[in-house]
Amino acid sequence: MIIDFRSDTVTKPGKEMLKAMAEAPVGDDVFNEDPSINSLESKAAEMFGMEAAIFCPSGTMTNQIAIKCHTQPGDEVICDTSSHIYQYEGGGIAFNSAASVKLLTGHRGRITAKQVADSINADDVHKAHTSLVCLENTSNRGGGSCYDMDEILNIKQVCKENDLKFHLDGARLFNALIAKKQDAKQYGKEFDSISICLSKSLGCPVGSLLLGDKNFIKKARRIRKAFGGGMRQAGYLAAAGIYALDHNIDRLTTDHEWALVIAENLIKKDFVTEVMPVETNIIIFSVNEPYTPSSLVARFKEDNILSYAISPTQVRLVMHLDISPAMVDKTIEVINKL
Ligand SMILES: *Cc1c(COP(=O)(O)O)cnc(C)c1O
Repeated sequence: MIIDFRSDTVTKPGKEMLKAMAEAPVGDDVFNEDPSINSLESKAAEMFGMEAAIFCPSGTMTNQIAIKCHTQPGDEVICDTSSHIYQYEGGGIAFNSAASVKLLTGHRGRITAKQVADSINADDVHKAHTSLVCLENTSNRGGGSCYDMDEILNIKQVCKENDLKFHLDGARLFNALIAKKQDAKQYGKEFDSISICLSKSLGCPVGSLLLGDKNFIKKARRIRKAFGGGMRQAGYLAAAGIYALDHNIDRLTTDHEWALVIAENLIKKDFVTEVMPVETNIIIFSVNEPYTPSSLVARFKEDNILSYAISPTQVRLVMHLDISPAMVDKTIEVINKL
């Protein structure tokens, strides 16, 4: 038994999901003729109370399309310093949109309305034109931390007053919705665009969705084509997405419970100096002697537990659909004997 906590992207589609995929009606999506993709897009748009959606191969693509849609070359994007759009998308903001970035140091990945207001450039020819604010919820490097709706509303107000677009990298938004008991439609109301990943904790093999109003999604469709993301009979993948939205959201509470239990056992160990507060399915903890992050990862591996050293001081464990109660028990047993 291999226990793979490296990421929630490692899940493989189960029997039922595969059946839904095999039976999917398909067509050419570049012609808008794939019934499964069309139905996934309208289902997701409806969940968030937004006008339209577009299915893409990855969350990197949905984020990058959104940034491209919302900015002009030379504009500036405001985001947290740890955000995926800046750290883990291959320099895509500069590469795809020729935009610069104003990095804010938030609290576990979360920035505040005051920080945003203070970082908007003056209307001055010397300065880049600030045009977009991006939030990440949950925050990956924040250990799966979630925003309070109040702060989102405050940031939205700053965006409104300053004519800034507001994008959400919601790769793990469903984890936040479940953990904070928030309403998807409220997110749809506050943001100009939302990216959600189906291939993370929802268990799909491939796929992300970008949501927005009709004009935005029309523009996104043009940019997706230019980025090489126009797919043909990808309804087989969309069917997995429909299955996941119907079956794999409510169970996220289980992932969150497992993360808490494992974290409680980690914090008791002398070599664990800090565990970031566990809010969702991610555990990030700091490691001290006799271990280093990489030696602890190697030690876990001897017991078939796969983890990830995310920094010179930290190890990350991520819960997901393919973890079983027996795997959690085994992990706790291993931690306790270290
Ligand atoms: C995984 C992830 C993405 C998108 O990643 P892809 O691998 O390109 O689908 C975007 N944002 C965050 C916060 C992520 O964790």
